[in-house]
Amino acid sequence: MRVSGAGLAGWLAALTDRNIQPRQAQHCRFRDTDGTVIDQGILLFFPGPSSFTGEDVIELQAHGSPVVLDMLVRRLLHLGARPARPGEFSERAFLNGKLDLVQAEAVADLVAAESEAAARAAQASLQGEFSRRISTIRDVLIAQRVLLEAGLDFSDQDIELVAPAALAENLAALCSSIATLLAEATQGSLLREGFRVAIAGRPNVGKSSLMNALTGQDAAIVTDIPGTTRDVIREVVNIRGIPFHLFDTAGLRDSPEPVEREGMRRARAELARADRVLLVVDSQIEGDTETAVFIEQELAAHAARGHLSVILNKIDLSGVAPGQRERSPPLVALSAITGDGLDALRNHLVEVARGGSSSEGHFMARRRHLAALEAALASVRTAERLAGEAALPELLAEELRQAQRQLGGITGEFSSDDLLGEIFAGFCIGK
Ligand code: GDP
Repeated sequence: MRVSGAGLAGWLAALTDRNIQPRQAQHCRFRDTDGTVIDQGILLFFPGPSSFTGEDVIELQAHGSPVVLDMLVRRLLHLGARPARPGEFSERAFLNGKLDLVQAEAVADLVAAESEAAARAAQASLQGEFSRRISTIRDVLIAQRVLLEAGLDFSDQDIELVAPAALAENLAALCSSIATLLAEATQGSLLREGFRVAIAGRPNVGKSSLMNALTGQDAAIVTDIPGTTRDVIREVVNIRGIPFHLFDTAGLRDSPEPVEREGMRRARAELARADRVLLVVDSQIEGDTETAVFIEQELAAHAARGHLSVILNKIDLSGVAPGQRERSPPLVALSAITGDGLDALRNHLVEVARGGSSSEGHFMARRRHLAALEAALASVRTAERLAGEAALPELLAEELRQAQRQLGGITGEFSSDDLLGEIFAGFCIGK
């Protein structure tokens, strides 16, 4: 049990008759209001500011019975405590400057980590790796702002603090470091948010079977009657530490039947949101014309963005060799039933999720961080362009100010109460 607040040293004498030393695990009796013993266990006292929250913190380790813990809670409430809100310990640590916002979020991500890679990435963020990268970029940004804004102040005296060519060069370097960080953060966010894969194709080509083969369970209903997958089925599979959210979409085809039409509407909505679409085709059918038509009708946008892969299924029936072919769009031949070629598909998925980069996510990031990095990058790019056009320095300065605000928003230097409320509400109680 953990209590945080001001002036907790005074509670120690009421809770136990041992003389408690700070930061030492001590075995003692926990006493009730009337002096009777509730339990005995370990008591830890961390006087502020050298504690997780920066306030005085008491931790009690008692026997695990709900009744005993309940009595201890009542004792603490009687002393003046109240139950903590979700994430309130981390929130106080943030407000007292013990953690920045990225680190506080990493606490929640560490607790929620579902793979070793995610846990390691969250730990790296908690150690401040992501925050340090941001502050390095921010320092460079501030240095450019100082030069620019000082130049504004002296603009009537014909003093040039920074040569336009040097400025453009500095801004280009800044863009590339933000872009690098964004790429790494995108990797990190994959570990947390996962990669959305939609499985699409004509009825009966083996979409449900493929989904089952990847998830290893009977998540989707497999039948040989066309049009039986009417809803969008989701499953999460972990492939080499990356969570993939698989959506088996209803067979896309024209149907007068209302239930099926609704399934198709949902399938199209999922398709639109997917990071990758796997278009399943039956290798027995000379399908190239049909597939081309299908891509044109349903998947033109995905194909254009390079977010499409073709899965040539049922190779056990057609005799096509398993594995990936370098084509555009890429193609993987497999059998969802025998499992031949499935590993090639797993490799392919990991490759596309990593966006061609071989690096793993080194720290944890959230979509919120990506959005802020993208906005900062856009501002610095605009500033770089303006510098090239010899635009008014005021305009450049404003873009750089915006970029700094975006970066500051990530670590919590500038943050609204709404944002804080939203972030800490996602924590569990006691963290
Ligand atoms: P969906 O309508 O696209 O979801 O297709 P299903 O997964 O329901 O599969 C339709 C039929 O094809 C079922 O009878 C499956 O057993 C069969 N099927 C799917 N994949 C394969 C495969 O790789 N090999 C063989 N032999 N049959 C398959």
